[in-house]
Amino acid sequence: MRAAVLKAPKSIELDHAYPEPPMGPADLKLKVDYTGICGSDLHVFAVEPPMMKMPVVLGHEFSAQVVEVGPETRGFEPGDRAVGLIYPSCGRCEYCVQGDFTLCDLRAVNFNQRNGSFAEFITVPARQLFLVPPGTPADEAALIEPASVAVHAIRRSRLSVGERVVVFGGGPLGLLIMKLAQLAGADRVALVEPVAGRRNLGRDYGADLVLDPADEIQGQINDATDGRGADIVFEVAGSGRAFAAAGKAVRKQGRMVVVAVYEGRDIPYNPNRFVADEVDLIHSYWAGAIDFRRAVNLVSSRKLDVRPLITGRVGLDQMQSAMDGLLADRGNHSKILVACS
Ligand SMILES: [Zn+2]
Ligand SMILES: [Zn+2]
Repeated sequence: MRAAVLKAPKSIELDHAYPEPPMGPADLKLKVDYTGICGSDLHVFAVEPPMMKMPVVLGHEFSAQVVEVGPETRGFEPGDRAVGLIYPSCGRCEYCVQGDFTLCDLRAVNFNQRNGSFAEFITVPARQLFLVPPGTPADEAALIEPASVAVHAIRRSRLSVGERVVVFGGGPLGLLIMKLAQLAGADRVALVEPVAGRRNLGRDYGADLVLDPADEIQGQINDATDGRGADIVFEVAGSGRAFAAAGKAVRKQGRMVVVAVYEGRDIPYNPNRFVADEVDLIHSYWAGAIDFRRAVNLVSSRKLDVRPLITGRVGLDQMQSAMDGLLADRGNHSKILVACS
């Protein structure tokens, strides 16, 4: 099969004869339609974190069609469209049993076991897959995985109607969180993003207020929150500066939800403000079964319209230039989709 193989840092080659992934009795085999390029793919491409051994086929934000069902699976038939979590989990630890398979005790062991979805075919345990209603376009369905991460972050935040929210970081995930916060009934959602192109996209996507962190933002956040500060801040930027600014923007007894990954770096953290003002510091990682189910429904009904986030499409053979382009200039792009078959 065809697969885009990351052979060494910053070097992707299209392999026309990559071995098809093994198929277990509890697995489905899927033909991949589209896979979105994620910030984490870009991170592995540029940095080679220790968890990933190269060569490797990345890709986890897939939409795909079922081509073969294992004998121990139920509920799927060839021709169905499915999305889900690509990295195999054990299915037996307490986290898997409660549907939080991204917290599986064996996740690190399983990370490199199968190819990711920048390939023609993948095999995935059926219990990690979710049916997509017929009629949902395959390109929009590829945004269900990142949407589920945003659903999870909103669920972790315990957002309730009328609250005021600030999102730090205007990448695809930040914008999905912004939009879902509005859908969940937030009174006002502000977006803080340093790159002009991403601020414009955030404005077009419906942000109530768009701020450049190069400006003095705390005064504007105070103005937008009756001088109190935000009820909830989401840190989706992954920088020490954004973390510090988010820690200032949240009100007393508010919640700060950290969704970003900090690329292996330590950042300054002084708990005194959080203690003195009783700020809840919450962390949110990936998504569980509940979040995937909700994201499937929200995206397929277009209550969460992901089309404005799709800013580019490339073929498997164009991945090297797409990744190089994203690294050089993230500002002009949000989600780039790779057509995989
Ligand atoms: Zn991702
Ligand atoms: Zn497990």
